Amino acid sequence: MGEESIPKSGDEMDVQKCAERLQLLQRIGGFGYFEWDIQSGQVSCSGEFEALYGLASGYFPCSCDGWISLVHPEDREEAERQVHLSLETGFLDVEWRVITPDHSVRWLVGRGSLFRDAAGNPERLVGVHLDITLQKQLEKELQDSNMFLERVMQSIPCALFALDREGRFVQVNPAGYDLFGYECSDIIGQPFRLIIDDETAQQLEEPLRQLMERGERLAAWEVDVTRKAGNRRTVSLSAMPLMEDGNISGMVGVAPDVTEQKETERQLRDSEDRHRTIFDAMNDAIFIHCARSGRITDVNRRAQEMYGYSHEEMCSLDVGEMSGPGFTQEAAIAIIQRVAEGEPELFEWLARHRNGTTFWVEVNVKKVVLEGADRVLAVARDITERKRSVSVIQESEEKFRALADNIAQFAWMADSGGRIVWFNKRWYDYTGTTAEEMGTDGWWQKVQHPAYLAAVKEKLSRCLDTGEPWEDTMPLRGKDGNYRWFLSRAVPIRDNAGRVTRWFGTNTDITERREIEESLRRTEERLSLAQQAAGIGIWSWEVGTEEPTFSPNYFNILGVEQQPLSFERFLDLLHPDDRQSLHDEFDRVLREGGQFEAEFRVQMADGLERWIMGRGRVYTDETGMPQRMTGIISDITEHKQHEDDLKRTMDDLARSNRELEQFAYVASHDLKEPLRMVASYLQLLEKKYGERLDEKAGQYIHFAVDGAERMDRLIDGLLRYSRITSRSADFVIVDTNAVFAEAVANLEQAIRESGAAVTREGLPQVRGDEMQLMMLMQNLIGNALKYRKEGLPPRVHVTAKREGREWVFAVRDNGIGIATEHHGRIFQIFQRLHTQKEYPGTGIGLASCKKIVEHHRGRIWLESIPGEGSTFFFSIPLERLGPSRSTTPAPAA
Ligand code: ADP
Repeated sequence: MGEESIPKSGDEMDVQKCAERLQLLQRIGGFGYFEWDIQSGQVSCSGEFEALYGLASGYFPCSCDGWISLVHPEDREEAERQVHLSLETGFLDVEWRVITPDHSVRWLVGRGSLFRDAAGNPERLVGVHLDITLQKQLEKELQDSNMFLERVMQSIPCALFALDREGRFVQVNPAGYDLFGYECSDIIGQPFRLIIDDETAQQLEEPLRQLMERGERLAAWEVDVTRKAGNRRTVSLSAMPLMEDGNISGMVGVAPDVTEQKETERQLRDSEDRHRTIFDAMNDAIFIHCARSGRITDVNRRAQEMYGYSHEEMCSLDVGEMSGPGFTQEAAIAIIQRVAEGEPELFEWLARHRNGTTFWVEVNVKKVVLEGADRVLAVARDITERKRSVSVIQESEEKFRALADNIAQFAWMADSGGRIVWFNKRWYDYTGTTAEEMGTDGWWQKVQHPAYLAAVKEKLSRCLDTGEPWEDTMPLRGKDGNYRWFLSRAVPIRDNAGRVTRWFGTNTDITERREIEESLRRTEERLSLAQQAAGIGIWSWEVGTEEPTFSPNYFNILGVEQQPLSFERFLDLLHPDDRQSLHDEFDRVLREGGQFEAEFRVQMADGLERWIMGRGRVYTDETGMPQRMTGIISDITEHKQHEDDLKRTMDDLARSNRELEQFAYVASHDLKEPLRMVASYLQLLEKKYGERLDEKAGQYIHFAVDGAERMDRLIDGLLRYSRITSRSADFVIVDTNAVFAEAVANLEQAIRESGAAVTREGLPQVRGDEMQLMMLMQNLIGNALKYRKEGLPPRVHVTAKREGREWVFAVRDNGIGIATEHHGRIFQIFQRLHTQKEYPGTGIGLASCKKIVEHHRGRIWLESIPGEGSTFFFSIPLERLGPSRSTTPAPAA
């Protein structure tokens, strides 16, 4: 409706028509027409208009103020303002309430247009009023309902949301924002997928499709939603379709947060599980009985294991059926009833396994209330092992006593305060006391030697205070009244907390040991004296330790103070020239083991040098590793001097011997020449003047010639004798059979003349000088032939046999024999037992034999029975046979 010029009302027909039409319109549209002449203030209106105000026709006040008075007082001001405003704007559009004469309130809307005069001043306001009460009511109802919904949405502590067809959030309530953790701007327009993970999306895909396509509701699906912060909550999701024009336009969802509830449920479940687990995990069998009937209502797993039945079986069995002989159901019921009424009970019960074996249980029964019902709880612990270990303990106790009574020592036990609680039998046997007597406090002191009692008591009380092990030696009186010495030892026995609960002690008879120690001490004293007397010092060294140990005399010999002495320090005491060789000898013997011997010099405090000899050996273990070295040292200075003296004497002797041999050789040689001259001239004298000389003279010449010849033989003998020299370097392997054969060949004439039989047994090979051995053999056989018995053909037999480390040769004859008193003499040079007349000879033969044998480092002797025969023995050392070891020429003798 705009501001326009009104057509002139000149044509009555048209006016009539218009009025009719307006009336018709007013009836159909339910509005009333008015016209306000602003200049006059006159308001004219239609009957419909008046009806809107509940007024009968013609009752409208027909003025603006009159109209205002009809308006609801609350709306009057606004209505008036709007009307005046319309005079400026040219339009009227205002709603207000009126109170009809029957006191009902109606909502009206007035709309109109302003007409102005030619000068532009407001002239007329023409418009209609319309009853909008119904519309207003509907509007209000809708508004109320919307507000209610909105309030519910805003305040309900449960997430609500709406999604469009594409599943995008179009609305979320505050609880939803809280739950999902998103701001409005973050979530509106975002897909539902935003708050669920892939897995959940997959689960929900089908039901959501059903919902969107077929309108099927989704009821209480437990779904995890992921909050913006990343953490999760569990909701119980329900949803229904949103309909628009009969079509599904989306869905509305409600998602109460059930996280806590779930957690509580889980905890409850866990707690139940835990209780059941504990119940089942108990190491004792647990029975739950009905307090009234005694029936078993529950058992744990251990019970099933212990008795060998399943849970169901046990719940249907009597206790009596699971008990050993003598333990009945009646007795069990009696106990359950007693416990149900009063105090808990603890007792032992013989239980029976399904397989028939019985076992002992200790049962603890008490009354409990479980899930509101009176129950009796029986906890049965298998004590078979305990019972067994009690008997094992008893057994081991018996064993211990048997052992303790039979050991050689006294054994005893005392409590932490030192009061004796037990002695073994030995103690009573030795002391002659009784257990009753010993039971008295401190009685053990009565067998102590009074002289030692105070010290023992003092030491013992110190040990009791500190808990240190006890050890002492003391004499104890036996039942015979004599004291013997004992080594007493005791150790504390502690409990788990480390407190001393017992002392366990032994007393060992050490009387013999003390005696041995005493005698050892005396022996050591004597040994020390002996060392001093013998002039030796002893040392011994455990290989690997720092220092050897030394006897006191060791230091006396070295002329130093007693001191710790390492090997290096010891070497320092030696003459510098001897250190290296001794060091090397030590090294060698440590490497090779065995014995060692060394001589070395030490410088005494008085500046004199002394010679020391050290001897010892290394002891090795089974693998050959050196373990211990022991040795002695002795001062050999004097010995050394004697040795030097002796050597000098020997050297002198050897030299003088050599000179003598030289002399004898030269002398014999030079004597032979004049002797031959004497003999030749005597023979010449006899030849030329024999006839002129008388018989006597002839006889004298004969004597002289005979003497010269003897002299010649003597000189030959001496020459041979002096040629027997010690040249062992020339020794070779000699077959004495060949030596014998040659000797016999040389003596052939004498053998033939005397009709002798000269025999031998198998003779050995020896090392020696062949010529000399031949001379030896020939002299002995020759003597055997010479000193034969008148009228008896000589028998000579040569044998040899091994004795120890030598060959002993024997030359036996059946001759005249030699008296024992002459046995020594005959080996001396020129010693003879007979005259030349009886048996001619020089007295050099056996002396030569002795010299030869001694050169071969053997001995010569004889056995003889005068008138029956003699046996001459000589020995030759057994030597390793083989080629001569030395090829160097011997020095000229
Ligand atoms: P000789 O035979 O030249 O007198 P020996 O030195 O060979 O010198 O002997 C010393 C002495 O020992 C002999 O004079 C002899 O009295 C005694 N004698 C040696 N061999 C025998 C023997 N087989 N039977 C008895 N007497 C013996």
